[in-house]
Amino acid sequence: MPSNLIGLYDGLKLSTADLDGSNRGMVISAHPDDGDLGAGGTVALLAQNGLSIRHIVVTDGRKGSPDPDTDQKLLVQNRLAEQKAAAKHLGVESVRSLSFPDGELKADRTLLEALVREIREFKPEIVFTHDPESVTSGSGWIHHNDHRATGSAVIDAVYPAARDPLNFPDQIRDGLEVHNVQTLYLWDTNKANINVDISEVFEQKLLALLSHHSQFPNSARLVNNSRIQWQDVDGRYREEFRKLDLWA
Ligand SMILES: [Zn+2]
Repeated sequence: MPSNLIGLYDGLKLSTADLDGSNRGMVISAHPDDGDLGAGGTVALLAQNGLSIRHIVVTDGRKGSPDPDTDQKLLVQNRLAEQKAAAKHLGVESVRSLSFPDGELKADRTLLEALVREIREFKPEIVFTHDPESVTSGSGWIHHNDHRATGSAVIDAVYPAARDPLNFPDQIRDGLEVHNVQTLYLWDTNKANINVDISEVFEQKLLALLSHHSQFPNSARLVNNSRIQWQDVDGRYREEFRKLDLWA
């Protein structure tokens, strides 16, 4: 474990024990680009430490354009391709889209079933997603409904749905097994209890973000804003999370 995985926020530390026995991490984001913004640096560090990482994108991103004449089918294809290109920069092994319509997500039984299936299939010890409790932040930020719906459904999938065989028993009959996720990391949180120094992999995060051409057409502006957003007062780059140790 490199020293850059030592968390500093509020005195809580990301210890070596966090990765003991961890082989797989899963990022679950509402849209292409969210996971790279929220956790790209930390994910790159985990991949460097030998974890296999899978990224699940819940929606198809079809509304991610300011142009009313956008070819949405093409946009969906492009955004998935952008996410796959970004994944390569971070060491993420696989990207899957659940293809729910962008902007219309509900934390309902259909979404829950799809997420439980992904968790039971891949069996991640660590899951990263949006903090659903963040409706607004600061004095000028509203968190997208799809982000909140995703975060809420992921939490329900992690506990108790993926754990209990009587939830979605068809999946068990199909040969999947119940699964306990050990640790949940929530980004976009107003209740951070840990941060991760991502300075060593910050250029990788930038390259991942730059892969999302459709969302960030002005590369220079993206690089400049990113440096401001993730740089701490000491000059280091950090990502913040609310971390939940579920079975400690
Ligand atoms: Zn988003």
